[in-house]
Amino acid sequence: MVSAEKEGKKDETAELARRRGFIWQAFEIYGGVAGFYDYGPLGAALKRRVEAKWREFYRREGFYEIETTTIAPRPVFESSGHLECFTDPAVVCKRCKSVFRVDEHVYVGAMCPECGGALEPSGEFQLMFQTRIGVTREGADAQALRKSEGYLRPETAQGMFINFQRLLKFNRDKLPLGILQIGKAYRNEISPRQSLIRLREFTMAEVELFVDPSEKNRHPRFAEVKDRIVPFVPNEGEPVETSIGNAVSTGIIANEYLGYHIGRVDEFLGSIGLPHDRVHFRQHEKDEMAHYAMDCWDAEFLSEKYGWMEIVGIADRGDYDLSAHAASLNIDLHVRTETGKVVPHVIEPSFGLDRIIYALLESAFYEEQLEKETRRVLRFKSDVAPIQVAVFPLLNRDELKSKAQEVFELLRNASFFVEYDSAGSIGKRYRRQDEIGTPYCVTIDYDTLEDATVTVRQRDSMQQVRVPIQDLKTALV
Ligand code: AMP
Repeated sequence: MVSAEKEGKKDETAELARRRGFIWQAFEIYGGVAGFYDYGPLGAALKRRVEAKWREFYRREGFYEIETTTIAPRPVFESSGHLECFTDPAVVCKRCKSVFRVDEHVYVGAMCPECGGALEPSGEFQLMFQTRIGVTREGADAQALRKSEGYLRPETAQGMFINFQRLLKFNRDKLPLGILQIGKAYRNEISPRQSLIRLREFTMAEVELFVDPSEKNRHPRFAEVKDRIVPFVPNEGEPVETSIGNAVSTGIIANEYLGYHIGRVDEFLGSIGLPHDRVHFRQHEKDEMAHYAMDCWDAEFLSEKYGWMEIVGIADRGDYDLSAHAASLNIDLHVRTETGKVVPHVIEPSFGLDRIIYALLESAFYEEQLEKETRRVLRFKSDVAPIQVAVFPLLNRDELKSKAQEVFELLRNASFFVEYDSAGSIGKRYRRQDEIGTPYCVTIDYDTLEDATVTVRQRDSMQQVRVPIQDLKTALV
C-alpha cells in the first residue's frame, strides 16, 4: 500500500543515494527507463550485507537455500494461477493516453495525474514479462508458439514449489521443511513512478516453509517470540499493539506458525536498523489478498515521502500451490506424517530487498546544523554499513601515508569493510564518511609514529578517542 508521492516533496533519499553512489536509474545515459535501477559500489555493498544477515538469520532456523531459474515455461504459471490472476486493473487517460494502475488515488472518475484529463477503464493488464524459449520459425502455428512461451518469474516462490518432491526427499521425507531463496523477480508494473519502491526488476528474499496443517498451531519455538510486542492493523476491528502470543490466542493472527514468522520478521527488521516505531503489521483486506493466500500480513514501513509501504509480505498460502501443480500434472504431492497423508501448507515470509534498502536509507538519513555547516549523516548500524571504517593519514606526508596504509591493510585482513582516503582536509573527509554512513574513522598522525596509537572518531557522537593499534579490531565493533 504505497500512498501517492506527497506533493512537491523531493525524494532526498533517492537524491543522496544517487549522488553518493548507492543507487541510480538504470540506462541513465540512454535517458533511463522507469522501474529499473542499478546499484553502485556502496549500494551493492549495503545490499549484500543485508542479504548476508538475512541468510544467516534464516539458516539459524534450520532452513536450506536453493537457487532456481528466473525464466519458466508457460505451464508453470498456468498451474500456479499467475497467467489468469497476476494482473492489475488499468485506466487510460482519454486525453494524453497515459496508462495508470488503479489504486486509491487513481480510478475511473479521478483525474489523470499527468494532464488532468478524464480516465476510462483499460482492462486487466498481465504483469509478467513474456519471452520465447528457443527459436520459433517464422509463420509457426499457434500451438508451436504456445509451446515456446516463457515468462520471467514474478516471485521466486514457484521454483521452490515445483522442486518440492526433490526437496522433501533431501529432507528425508520430513516436515516441516524450510527453503529459502534470494533472487531477481520481474513484474511489468503499469505505473512504476515511485523511484525504488515500484520496480520492474527487483530482488526478493523468500522463505517457503512447508508444514503439516495439523501442526500449524504448535510451533516448537513459539515461546521465543510470544512476548514480543508488535503493532497490528487487523482487517477487522481496531489497530492494536500487543504481544504475538496474545494476537494468536485472541485470533488476530490465525495460527502459531504465522505468528512465529511475523515475530521473526519484526526481529530481523530491527536487527538491520529499521526503527521499531516506523514498522507495523497490516492484515490484507479480504478482497486484497493474492489469489493463493488464505491469510496475509504485510510488514509496512512508514516512509516520510510515500506513507506506509509494504516491505515484507507474510502469507499463509495453505496448500494452494502444491495442490495446483499436483492437479495440473496429475501427480500426488501428499506427504506421510504421524497424522496421516497430508498436502503440506506453506507459510511464506517474502521480503522485497530493494524496498528494505530504501527504508534503511530513508530512516538512517538525518541532517544536523553545526556551527558553520549542515552535517548530513546516514546512521547505518555497523553490521550493515557499506564501509565500516575509513582510515586517514592526518596530512598528506609519506611517513603518515605509509603508516595509514599499514593500518588499512591490517583492518582489511581482519575482514573489515574499510576505505583509505588521503584527499582533502580532514573535516571534509569526515563529512564524506558521515554521508555514506561509515561508523568509524581512524586517523594516523605524528603521535602514531611515536606511540602506536590512533584517533578513532565515532560517527554519531563525533567523539574522538585515542586507541592503541593493537586494540583497534575490538574497538571498532
Ligand atoms: P508480494 O508477492 O506482492 O507480496 O511482494 C513481496 C514483496 O516484494 C513486497 O513486500 C515488496 O517488498 C516487494 N515488491 C513487490 N512488488 C515490488 C515492486 N514492483 N518493486 C519493488 N519491490 C516489490
